[in-house]
This record gives sequence, structure tokens and C-alpha cells, in this order.
Amino acid sequence: MQIPISYLCAMQKIGILGGGQLGRMLLQAAANYPVETFVLENDPECPAAHLCRHFVKGDIKNFDDVYAFGKQLDAITIEIENVNVEALEKLETEGVRIYPKPSVLKTIKNKILQKEYYRTHQIPSPEFIVTPDAAALKEQLAFLPAVHKLGEGGYDGRGVQLIKKEEDLSKGFDAPSVLEKMVDIRKEIAQMVAINDKGETALYPPVEMLFDPQLNLLDYQLCPAEIDERTLWKVEAIALSVVRNFKSPGIFAIEMFIDKNGDVLVNETAPRVHNSGHHTIEAHYSSQFDMLWRVILGYPLGNTEAILPSIMVNVIGADKYSGNAIYEGLEEVLKIENAFVHLYGKKQTKPGRKMGHVTILSKDKQDLLYQSNKVKHGLIVKA
Ligand code: ADP
Repeated sequence: MQIPISYLCAMQKIGILGGGQLGRMLLQAAANYPVETFVLENDPECPAAHLCRHFVKGDIKNFDDVYAFGKQLDAITIEIENVNVEALEKLETEGVRIYPKPSVLKTIKNKILQKEYYRTHQIPSPEFIVTPDAAALKEQLAFLPAVHKLGEGGYDGRGVQLIKKEEDLSKGFDAPSVLEKMVDIRKEIAQMVAINDKGETALYPPVEMLFDPQLNLLDYQLCPAEIDERTLWKVEAIALSVVRNFKSPGIFAIEMFIDKNGDVLVNETAPRVHNSGHHTIEAHYSSQFDMLWRVILGYPLGNTEAILPSIMVNVIGADKYSGNAIYEGLEEVLKIENAFVHLYGKKQTKPGRKMGHVTILSKDKQDLLYQSNKVKHGLIVKA
């Protein structure tokens, strides 16, 4: 659907489903544009609650709540996939623009459908089989080593189980899941792509990720990823194929593995602003959040180029601390040149909770690594 010209200048009513940090940063970028913002979320103390024009208390998974919220709006976007898609489908038929389209959410929300989507569109992704229950998994000894992924409801590492050998088979999920061949990973990268209503696309430089092996959470993220030109071409071509086949405007983060042979495989796609694009706020001309507003409002796409290379460090709730958050070492981090601190305004910390992030900009990679280590070890979230 093309956005009518008259909309481009008029104040539009735009809703966000979910009020976490992604919604919060989206609202920070909204301040530059003619939008009246709405957030639907159950928790009135959530990170986005105080930055929107209208906070609506409600359940993003509930049909009636999402439908009533959306009926008053010109467009809706999401900050989490786990929303009521049926309500969005009905709103779409009634003329509310949805970014991304509900059909995309349906495919992506369920890892089985998502993996089938890659197969249908010949997008390289780890080989897989579907296991309806625990008994079906137990028959797959010949497929090991593998990774078992819950079809619906898993996030941030919950819902993912490594099944390396026979003894691990009992650790799998007793619910519809995918069993994926284990990839010998050389690098994990993410490619952000924006696509507007006209089908025009904009690609950010891919980022390279490093994970905390215990928490399974993203730890550091370097931009641009250190990959050769041929690999970059593959990454971009694959990411574009993922996005174009969805036939939906929006912004997408495509997480990929580069294996030991240099092959590029799609791990998963998020059809929204994403953790792997946080650095774009300071390090790129148009941030992922600015870009999504441009897409939603029908404006020209922004400039994705990097102003400087960057590293983003997640600020994660320290082990053993639960309760009212205290940020130890914040002053020292704020002294670092070209370090940008984002705290998400979450009152309560708990081990592994994403409480904020810090982006550091520098021309010099050694400097980026040195400063990001200082942040990682110097800024501790206690209670
Ligand atoms: P989530 O959606 O919970 O983030 P992912 O599917 O991204 O789960 O998996 C989490 C992590 O598990 C990945 O970042 C990667 O390190 C590892 N992983 C996932 N799939 C595979 C695979 N097929 N082979 C090897 N490692 C994998």
C-alpha cells in the first residue's frame, strides 16, 4: 500500500506494541517527526512509558487489547514479535498500516515456519528437521550434533538447547520444535536492512557479534564486521533475499553464521529494530530508529553509512544481584571519550537482564577493544 501524499506532512498517530528499551529508543527518535505516539504495554513503569504521548495499559498478546489500541491509529509497529497477530490482521484489512505486515510476524514468530520460509525461498540456513515432541527427538540420533529450538515462545537463548550427543537428547523440548544441524561457526554477524512501501532498500554495514557463553546473551558487537569483500556480497545478497521475499515494508535484522568454510547461513530474522542496531544511534548518519520512522512515515530512506567504526557493549545485570538497580562505575565510563551511555530506566535488575548499552566510537580498532573492555568490566549493575 502506498502512503497518500497528504500523510507525509500531517501529524500521524502511530502505535508501538511493547514498551521495552527498543520502544524507548524508537520514541527518542520520534521526537524529530510529526507523530503522535502511542504505546501498548501492561507495565506502566516500562522503559517506554514516560516517553510516549499516550500510554495504554494492555496486553500485547490479547486480541481485544491490540484491536482496540490499533483502531484509533494510522499505523502500528512492534518492538517484540510475540504479539496478537490476528488483531493486526483485522486492523490491516480495515486500513491500518502495519510494519512489518502481520503475515511476516506469523512466519517469524514460529521457528518451524521461519525455517520453512528459508527453505522455500532457497535462502541458505542450517539443515533442519521438525520434531513434534520429545519422543520424535529421541529418534534423531543420526542427525547429531544439533541444536534444538522451540517453535514458539523462546527468546534470548531460552528455547535453545545444544544436543551434541545421545545423552543430551533428554534435554530437548517436548513441544513442536526444529532440530538444526550444528554449524561450525567462525563468526556470528547481523545485517540490518530497511525496506519502504515502494520496495526501496537500505543496508547498514554488517556487525560482528561476540556472546557471553554462560548467559547466551550478546556481549560486544563490532561495526563494521571484519569480513572479506566476497563474504560481504554474499551476506548482502542473502539478507536482501530474506527481506524482499517477505513483501513487507519495515526494518529487519538478519542474524547469520559464517562457517569455517566461509559459507553464509541465516540463523534467524527479527522484523523490527534490534539489539544489533543500537550502535547506529551515534555511529551512523541515520540510526535504525530514525530509519524505521522514515519507512513508516513515507519519507526518503536515511543514510546508513558509518560516521566512525564502533563497538557496542550491553550493560547486563550482574550475577547474584536482584532488586533496585545501582550503576557502579558509571562516572568512569562517562569520562571515556566518544562513549555514549544508554540506561533503559529499568528500576529492577536481575542476573542477565539487559539494563542498558554503551556505544564507543573510534577510528582505531585497538582503542575500541580497549575501551569496550573497560566498560564491560568497569560498569557493574548491582542491587
Ligand atoms: P535466540 O532466538 O534465543 O536468540 P538463536 O537461534 O539465535 O536463539 O540461538 C542462540 C545462539 O545459539 C546463537 O547465537 C548461536 O551462538 C547458537 N546457535 C544457534 N543455532 C546454531 C546452530 N545451528 N549451530 C551452532 N550454533 C547455533
